[in-house]
Amino acid sequence: MGALILECAVRTDVGPVRKNNEDSVFATSRLAAVADGVGGHAAGEIASRAAIDVLAALEKSWLSEPLPTALGEAVLAGNERIGFIASCRPQFEGMSTTLTAVALDEDYVVANIGDSRTYLLRDRELTQLTRDDSYLQLLIESGTVDIEQARRHPQRNVVVEALDGGPQRAPTVTTHPARVGDRLLLCSDGLSDVLDDETIRETLATEPRDRCAVLLVEMALEGGARDNVTVVVADAVATDRSSSSWHRPATAG
Ligand code: MG
Repeated sequence: MGALILECAVRTDVGPVRKNNEDSVFATSRLAAVADGVGGHAAGEIASRAAIDVLAALEKSWLSEPLPTALGEAVLAGNERIGFIASCRPQFEGMSTTLTAVALDEDYVVANIGDSRTYLLRDRELTQLTRDDSYLQLLIESGTVDIEQARRHPQRNVVVEALDGGPQRAPTVTTHPARVGDRLLLCSDGLSDVLDDETIRETLATEPRDRCAVLLVEMALEGGARDNVTVVVADAVATDRSSSSWHRPATAG
């Protein structure tokens, strides 16, 4: 079987209310990630960038361990970096970021912390591959509110886990079999707060990739997004390129 790669379209918008875009985004043929930073004095940008930078370095390395382990460790390295920067600069104290990331080998290896999301569209069906680390998710799971009430809930942006440099931060790492023709969406909550799953599904199922990214952001803004809005739309495409392995090829002899 040939290998798979991701072909990505990326779009980010500061939105009508915020002064800065504190989301950071990264997308290559085998790793895509969205991080949504929080903190005053532009610290949100610093936090989300730090988390993404570690993944960008991972993407350019041979791995010495299985991809899920390496991805989880890279997220924790990002957490450390955020803690280090915050300890050097008082104005960055308390900054944090969410992170949703997908690395591709034969599977999608998904690492997530916070309330940014990764969705999979397969055979026109939409599945959310990540679980929000949010107060609201806890309310939904306990049956206290339903999805529609959640959309208007005053505490919908309260995140219960994020990368803030603290100890014992643990991303959730999951693996999902990858298939040609899959389409992934990674997004910050600026999108998923405003657009419901059916709107997202319909758009992903009907529009070409680039148009999809543009449209999703436009619809979120028109729908009243008050936050930064970021998306990666990534299609799993077959390739005969053999150089996409995460591990150093064994040498003969
Ligand atoms: Mg946000």
